[in-house]
Amino acid sequence: MASRVLGLVLARWAMRTPAQLAPAITTALTSRALFHGETARRQADVVSTPNSTTAPSYSPASGPVLAAAVAAAAPRTTWTKDEISEIYNTPLMELVFDAASLHRRFHNPAAVQMCTLMNIKTGGCSENCSYCAQSSRYQTGLKATKLSAVDEVLEAARVAKENGSSRFCMGAAWRDMRGRKSNLRNIVEMVKGVRAMGMEACVTLGMIDKAQAEQLKEAGLTAYNHNLDTSREHYPSVITSRTYDERIETIGNVRVAGINVCTGGILGLGEKAEDHVGLIYTVATMPSHPESFPVNTLVPIKGTPLGDSNPIAFDAVVRTIATARLVLPASIIRLAAGRISMTEEKQMMCFMAGANAIFTGEKMLTTDCSGWDEDKAMFNRWGLKPMESDNKGSDVTAAGAEAEARQFSATG
Ligand code: SF4
Repeated sequence: MASRVLGLVLARWAMRTPAQLAPAITTALTSRALFHGETARRQADVVSTPNSTTAPSYSPASGPVLAAAVAAAAPRTTWTKDEISEIYNTPLMELVFDAASLHRRFHNPAAVQMCTLMNIKTGGCSENCSYCAQSSRYQTGLKATKLSAVDEVLEAARVAKENGSSRFCMGAAWRDMRGRKSNLRNIVEMVKGVRAMGMEACVTLGMIDKAQAEQLKEAGLTAYNHNLDTSREHYPSVITSRTYDERIETIGNVRVAGINVCTGGILGLGEKAEDHVGLIYTVATMPSHPESFPVNTLVPIKGTPLGDSNPIAFDAVVRTIATARLVLPASIIRLAAGRISMTEEKQMMCFMAGANAIFTGEKMLTTDCSGWDEDKAMFNRWGLKPMESDNKGSDVTAAGAEAEARQFSATG
């Protein structure tokens, strides 16, 4: 039946003269221009009437703020919370489409970085982060350990590299590095060893001061992770043992030392949508954007205050990733903890929205992680490939990402 109708339509078109066809062609081209170019009008949706003889026209929901974000030539740090909120609240399919479009200008959309995160010192942490299995304040059954031996860590890094990871991250459950000189010396050796393998090295050790940041920089550290976790407003509901500003101070020390910054958040901490906006606003208005923005989803741990939390809605995850992509165009967005509970299709939606790194391997700190083979098979099914590191110790920089995106455009 459908093919008969299509046949009749084509026959009617075939019998028309060029003059008769011109208005219809103009209408079709106008519809296409609206679809691709008109960005200043809001919320028109499909406007065809039941008896219309023209194709339904479509006007995207994006306003001037989103249009400007999509057209950006470079990251900017002058974002307002209202602007980010407007982007965040765009109808989701439009938001993902626009984020995916921008993603293609700043990054190769087929490249996803494989990273491995090893816990080099487990548990016994004095902080009270309400989600964390490693806080000594909660009964989670986790056994505290001392700092791992350098050889053991480098062997794990070698295995990660062999399996395709280009970044090796090392996490220690500490509040800060005060009085840990010999531990820091060992971590310096770990960083040097990982860099000598040609991998990017990242550490997360709690709060660090300027001198410690410089020591890590000298060792060749690529990036330092220190998550803000959530918005400034919601933060006191999650952690009270250190302040938001103390976290920002550590990030500043890392930046001043010339180490790339990795800072992001955890979704599902009982926050609201405006807290996702607030988190992105904080990083987007830093003097320069973090090179990495990890998006974690809460993995509830029995024994912690958030142990019985409901999972975050997936649309909020996609919305956060897409907004971050549009607001932090050059940053690597890391789909981090909680990925293991996402179906493959959900992960693809996250990549479409602009995520371009994953944590892969046997474990991600104390939680389970999708393995290398599983992830490589998934990449093959969907036409993705592991992102190459720039291998110079400077992270996948904005310039490097742009260069790869240009190469991608040129080749296809
Ligand atoms: S500082 Fe890190 S290790 Fe310590 S409780 Fe918070 S999240 Fe856990």
